[in-house]
Amino acid sequence: KAKASGRNRFQVYDETLGEAHGDSRKLKDAIFNAMKNDTFMLHFQGVFNTESGRLEGFEALLRLSDENGKPISPDVFIPVAEAMGAISDIGAWVLDQACAFSAQLPGDIFVSVNLSPAQFAVGDIPTLVRTALEKHRLSSSKLELEITENLFLERTEQVVAELAELREMGISIAIDDFGTGYSNLSYFCDLPITKVKIDRSFLAGWARGEAAAKSVLQTIMTLCRNTGMVVTAEGIETTAQADYCRSIGCHQLQGFLLARPAPAGDLEPLLQKLAIEGFVLDMSEAGDA
Ligand code: C2E
Ligand code: MG
Ligand code: MG
Ligand code: MG
Repeated sequence: KAKASGRNRFQVYDETLGEAHGDSRKLKDAIFNAMKNDTFMLHFQGVFNTESGRLEGFEALLRLSDENGKPISPDVFIPVAEAMGAISDIGAWVLDQACAFSAQLPGDIFVSVNLSPAQFAVGDIPTLVRTALEKHRLSSSKLELEITENLFLERTEQVVAELAELREMGISIAIDDFGTGYSNLSYFCDLPITKVKIDRSFLAGWARGEAAAKSVLQTIMTLCRNTGMVVTAEGIETTAQADYCRSIGCHQLQGFLLARPAPAGDLEPLLQKLAIEGFVLDMSEAGDA
């Protein structure tokens, strides 16, 4: 009897384990299959000038679907890809595709690419970037790289040297999700950062009337003004948020109000307009964009 119940307990335990295991196993399989079958996708989300509404660039956002075609959030699969040591290969693919898209864009429209700290641990990022630029005959001014504050947790000389080299090449470097990581304000003084992207949680907090979010926004603006950073506000969903960001001097806006992330093919009409007349978003009509 004791043996039977022991076995039962073991089976329950085993099943639970199996389930948890199966979940991450499924994720790993989805990632592995997407790499093997080349089914990762990139979407691009417009970034607009706060004052004029002019399109200034796009952020490249990675997309993965499960076997039923249901999208898996990058916030879920990127950490798994990092843990399985796949983020460097995936990141190289993202960079290549983003450069290919950027090369089709008119004028000085940039494309920004998110980099995982794990990519810095594995490869030589300046060499990777230089190779991609050369392959697509792309000017460095048309590429921007987004890093997070957590990259500076291990602020090795190697990371700092690679960022400096990228800046020397003419690549813009943005701090993404600013204010949510382990902030070390010293990099404002001694690192080659050109842009700050304010995390959307602060704009969401502001919209809920939170005083703390408002003072964080104002503080970030003061800091960035005094250090000459370009500021992009993320997660703009309402005209009230857009108007507030304009009033505090944010340079660029990004969010569902202005444009949703979309595959390059769907951006064709917008890009044709841009090529002809210089596209300017009418924010009162935004949302249809
Ligand atoms: P992120 O770099 O901060 O990208 C912005 C995220 O906010 C995107 O989520 C975008 O779809 C979403 N977003 C844009 N506007 C709005 C809005 O108005 N409201 C709301 N609620 N959300 C908005 P997404 O595409 O799910 O990506 C999540 C995160 O995954 C990214 O955050 C980035 O950290 C990471 N990620 C995405 N693509 C890549 C990639 O190619 N490489 C790496 N390493 N990370 C990536
Ligand atoms: Mg980003
Ligand atoms: Mg962000
Ligand atoms: Mg993020």
